[in-house]
Amino acid sequence: MADTAILDRMARKRLGFLPTPVVPLPALSKHLGGPAILMKRDDQTGLALGGNKTRKLEFLLGDAIAKGADVVVTGGAAQSNHCRQTAAAAAVCGLGCHLALGGEEPAALNGNLLLGRLLGATIHWSGARRKGEDIPAICDRLRASGRKPYIIPYGGSNAIGAAGFVEAMRELTLQLGPEADRVSHIVFASSSGGTHAGLMVGKVPGGLGTRLVGINIDKEESGEMTLGEHILDLAGATATLLGLDHTFAGADLILRDDYVGAGYGVIGDREREAISLTARLEGILLDPVYTGRAMGGLIDLIRNGEIGPRDTVLFWHTGGSPALFAHAGELVI
Ligand SMILES: *Cc1c(COP(=O)(O)O)cnc(C)c1O
Repeated sequence: MADTAILDRMARKRLGFLPTPVVPLPALSKHLGGPAILMKRDDQTGLALGGNKTRKLEFLLGDAIAKGADVVVTGGAAQSNHCRQTAAAAAVCGLGCHLALGGEEPAALNGNLLLGRLLGATIHWSGARRKGEDIPAICDRLRASGRKPYIIPYGGSNAIGAAGFVEAMRELTLQLGPEADRVSHIVFASSSGGTHAGLMVGKVPGGLGTRLVGINIDKEESGEMTLGEHILDLAGATATLLGLDHTFAGADLILRDDYVGAGYGVIGDREREAISLTARLEGILLDPVYTGRAMGGLIDLIRNGEIGPRDTVLFWHTGGSPALFAHAGELVI
């Protein structure tokens, strides 16, 4: 495998319990009269309640330590799973952690925000800027006070972070063995693009025929690069970082924009049904913002026949359940 030599040489700080399990979801499959459904349990990566960012942070924190940083700076929404896992990763490494969080300071701490505070992060409230726009200004102030900040971009989605999902694809391929060829679709929530880009690059050396179906969970804002463009760019940059001679074109990308509903973090019937079905039939907790929406998308793709009864689909559970508590009022109505 062309990429793995460089991947194995990259600086990496072990943070997660890997490999995460793959489990079948027979009751959900039966209920839907549909394909065999497997789930990759990255909600169980183990770092302070787990999630997909742990994989990216292993490489990002490895790089931060190699560069001699003493504090990491990142940003996201107030209930960001990425920020909570970054706070935990920084704690493990003995580094400071500053978070730029969207919105205003709420009256009560809950969910990921509560956990970020318990994990020792310093929080900066940044109003409408919920995608880490304030990171550079925070770094300037830290540098001015003699600190050595390391920037972790929104969602941990640069080429170094995405390498975590190249590694994840290798992990899954080894784990499934010959069964890997039976997996016709891998379905997951896509938001800052690192998971999607890393899986795309990871699929190249193994030659897997699996279709990667990203479910976009956030509305596109005009004037920005679209998520699809960003994923293709990032896949290219990640392949280059790993010395892999491969270019990615629009035809390589499946990103479904039709399940964003009323926008980021706005819970509708689709998310409520997916969360409740998965909980009651399989005893597995999804999250309201990402995996609930992505599972809602998968259920729809099965019901409308795009994924057929003879297919085998793997749902990549990317974590997020701490946010359930922050959305309690909208979940059970
Ligand atoms: C961040 C996140 C995602 C999306 O991953 P990206 O790499 O940002 O696209 C999906 N699910 C959960 C629970 C997340 O926290």
